Amino acid sequence: MNKPNIVILGAGYGGIITASRLSKQLGHNDANITLVNKHSYHYQTTWLHEPAAGTIPAEKARVPIKDVLDLNKVNFVQDTAVEIDRDAKKVVLENGELEYDYLVVALGSVAETFGVPGVFEHAFSKWTVNGARQVKEHIEYMFATYNNLEEKKDELLTFIVAGAGFTGIEFVGELSKRVPELCATYDVPREKVKMYVIEAAPTALPGFDPELVEYAMNLLESRGVEFKINCPIKEVVKDGVILANGDEIKSNTVVWATGVRGPEIIEKSGFEAMRGRIKVESDLRAPGHEEIFVIGDCALIINEEINRPYPPTAQIAIQMAETCAHNLATLVKGGSELKNFKPEIKGTVASLGGKEAIGVVGTRKLFGSSASFMKKVIDNRSLFLIGGPGLLLKKGKNPL
Ligand code: FAD
Repeated sequence: MNKPNIVILGAGYGGIITASRLSKQLGHNDANITLVNKHSYHYQTTWLHEPAAGTIPAEKARVPIKDVLDLNKVNFVQDTAVEIDRDAKKVVLENGELEYDYLVVALGSVAETFGVPGVFEHAFSKWTVNGARQVKEHIEYMFATYNNLEEKKDELLTFIVAGAGFTGIEFVGELSKRVPELCATYDVPREKVKMYVIEAAPTALPGFDPELVEYAMNLLESRGVEFKINCPIKEVVKDGVILANGDEIKSNTVVWATGVRGPEIIEKSGFEAMRGRIKVESDLRAPGHEEIFVIGDCALIINEEINRPYPPTAQIAIQMAETCAHNLATLVKGGSELKNFKPEIKGTVASLGGKEAIGVVGTRKLFGSSASFMKKVIDNRSLFLIGGPGLLLKKGKNPL
């Protein structure tokens, strides 16, 4: 093959790190590397609960791609991938087409609704920079509107988070931390604000250590959050949610965080998928496709110890990107010995707003400010992996 075309779809954790590593491992004459992304920037998906609640500016979670990639080595195309034509080896974009010899699919995920009607129409479900901005603006608008109406409407100040998983808990942690400031700014009595976390499963934060879950729930309850556990939502409607038990909660703000599935393009392009994710081979290639790598949230890998899929995380996406870049560089250079991917789970830390968090690092359980310190170290590490010390200096978080 003469100077192959490598096309990488998506500039999230998986895509941008693959592009960055490939641009270092391959020379100009080895391959053409093209990165396609919807926006001109990468965003730190794992930070988005913060701008959504308004505790950091959205700008902080955005990183212009030109600042972290050498665009002499990587051709950046700002566009949206619509379909992958596997037979013709090309990607159809909204504004054109790209032929590939090797493809990396790293397009992240979309909200999983589990068939609940009304989510896309009435809830906020987009965990993107613009999605986060919209939630923040909407929350502030609710506060501003409340006092401006002659007839007070409680649903303006009732905030529902659907899902007590990682994302839902992190978001309500930020929101509950910010509510006192919002009340002061908009002259709203604190007791008027209601925050609910509604979860279908029998516990919040499934899979987390029970002691940590209890800590998180107690802390959030002390800030006024009410949990409704084991309580599936039947429908999201214009003015709130209808629960499976028939109860209704009136609210003008439903934030959907019940988990994710692979993006539509995967099934549309004819890949065999489970909830939109492709079960990849151990070298991260799509079954039956030696030229297609799938990484990050689009890829499904099984944790053999419990015979269940690993949850989609940034931690795994980053590690997959390193293996994917190595394997691609090997193939391009004519090698055939590819690395098998095995995630190395170093720990998990969930922020709870302010200087509060919970987590496990190695075998150590962390609570409160030590967990919060660790969370910021983890956030800073991902910045470092993406953009080195320069990006860390520009966007890094103060762990203290
Ligand atoms: P993403 O980072 O989502 O990137 C996908 C990229 O593809 C985006 O840039 C997007 O714009 C682009 N894109 C999408 N569709 C198209 C298209 N059709 N055409 C072109 N471009 C497209 N994980 C952890 O490990 N730790 C955490 O603490 C943690 N916290 C989280 C908190 C929140 C609020 C959320 C939402 C997620 C969190 N996660 C966490 C999960 C983690 O963010 C994801 O697993 C991770 O972002 C997946 O990386 P990725 O590269 O697969 O996709």
